Amino acid sequence: MWLDLRKIIESPGASQTFAVTLDPEHLRDPAIQGFKVPPEARGEVVNTAGLLSLRGTLTAEMTCVCDRCGTVFDREKVLSLDVPLAADVSDEQSPEVFAVEGGGIDVSEVAETCFILDMEQKVLCRDECKGLCPMCGKNLNEGPCGCTRPGDPRLAALRRLLEMPDDPTD
Ligand SMILES: [Zn+2]
Ligand SMILES: [Zn+2]
Repeated sequence: MWLDLRKIIESPGASQTFAVTLDPEHLRDPAIQGFKVPPEARGEVVNTAGLLSLRGTLTAEMTCVCDRCGTVFDREKVLSLDVPLAADVSDEQSPEVFAVEGGGIDVSEVAETCFILDMEQKVLCRDECKGLCPMCGKNLNEGPCGCTRPGDPRLAALRRLLEMPDDPTD
């Protein structure tokens, strides 16, 4: 959604509200299976002493896949937006600053970029997700599976004991 900022661009203290429904197609992430309701962003662009910034909240209710155990789970994301906007496009800003062009800005694009930048590298169903057993594939969050883990040092010690020849004095 293109937001017209011409009314506030030269007026310190002025603000322009916005509310936009985002296109889920633009919020793709390997961990996101889908959105339960269309994600929304609302807020305002404020002119503070001549500097424009976009402030607001992005809310999304989505279904995610855990990177570690593969469980599909619901997740609500509420993201605060506070993004400086560059009103003067002529001076080359750093790429992360959104530029106002033609007297306005695409607020959908700003919100979508913030959403994608905020996504974790690995989405987990819980902070301490135990993942799947590498041997039987059981979800270890639901309880232990009974497989003996090859890396367990106690088992290695036990194996060494079992491999020892019989004690002749016994
Ligand atoms: Zn998990
Ligand atoms: Zn197992």
